[in-house]
Amino acid sequence: MKKNRGCFEEEKNVGLEALIKAAFLCHRVQKEMLGSRKKGIVEKTDRSPATVADYGAQAIICRILNDAFPNDPIVAEENSSLLIRPENQPLLELTVNSVEQTLGRKVGRQAVCDWIDLGSGQPDGRFWTLDPIDGTKGFLRLDQYAIALALIVEHKVQLGLLACPNLSFHSPVASCPMDNPEAGSLSVAVAGEGAYLISLDRRQSLPLRVSSISDPRQVRLVESFEPSHTDHQTQQRILQGFENSLSPIRMDGQTKYSLLARGEADLYLRLPSPESSGYREKIWDHAAGSLIVEEAGGVVSDIHGQRLDFGRGKELSANQGIAASNGKIHQAVIEAIQRQLQL
Ligand code: AMP
Ligand code: MG
Repeated sequence: MKKNRGCFEEEKNVGLEALIKAAFLCHRVQKEMLGSRKKGIVEKTDRSPATVADYGAQAIICRILNDAFPNDPIVAEENSSLLIRPENQPLLELTVNSVEQTLGRKVGRQAVCDWIDLGSGQPDGRFWTLDPIDGTKGFLRLDQYAIALALIVEHKVQLGLLACPNLSFHSPVASCPMDNPEAGSLSVAVAGEGAYLISLDRRQSLPLRVSSISDPRQVRLVESFEPSHTDHQTQQRILQGFENSLSPIRMDGQTKYSLLARGEADLYLRLPSPESSGYREKIWDHAAGSLIVEEAGGVVSDIHGQRLDFGRGKELSANQGIAASNGKIHQAVIEAIQRQLQL
């Protein structure tokens, strides 16, 4: 009998293949950094870092997506403009080497830059959005990060894929050992079809389901590690208002959404940091993770309780911050945020 194929089956398989290749590239680069921390890093104009792994992962993923779906624009975080500067030649060389090592063949500088720039598409109609390393600061700390890919069709996220090489398939709290990249995890969701967790070696999978905790005193909060990305103090006050004395879990990138979808955390808050209160969230930082949490039974909104609007270009310009939860506590959390904002 023919197996029933779900929606976006080909997109999912191509996306997974691309993410797994990129995950092994990132893992190798991170492992090499153990010895020489400062190698292969550039500071972008917004002062955020990009590494050989950001560029290498973007090149590989864009190339694979463009081969399979040449008409789909890709809206990705990086481009080659800094990489081609003469002072960054060593970084370009390292990027080319890492791409060639991953693909097992010669590619050359021009092709790598061209593949990276396949990610300079515009968000319109049906398009992909990619963050090749979400949580670069975590990656540089040899900690957590995610490779995030989503397919958006007419303003709605239809497919969300997250590779979390350092988030163990078996136990999310325990980081993966550096010598075993296959112990990492992938989180996957197709709109209307649920979400599931896959081991990075693709041998095991299980359905994702958010927690059922409804008592705010027991809520486990997950938040950004970086104080410049979120308002730790106000988030702490919200927990205190709930008479909740649990320490928040701090994690980089969209691994936070994966933790929530696994039921290992109940709430992800991203109140704008006082250091950058006018900041607007980027679509590639939330498209994949938000669908995964929703398909695992959770609720994702901005800090005012509004749905995320992925139809406004590269930024979530109609939204402010993020509040994602198991759903049971969502209304109480939004009310608590609003009380804090009025103080
Ligand atoms: P996280 O690891 O959750 O803190 O998220 C990492 C992402 O934060 C990066 O991919 C950036 O796009 C994004 N980011 C950069 N600056 C800010 C900011 N001021 N507020 C919120 N997010 C930011
Ligand atoms: Mg990011």
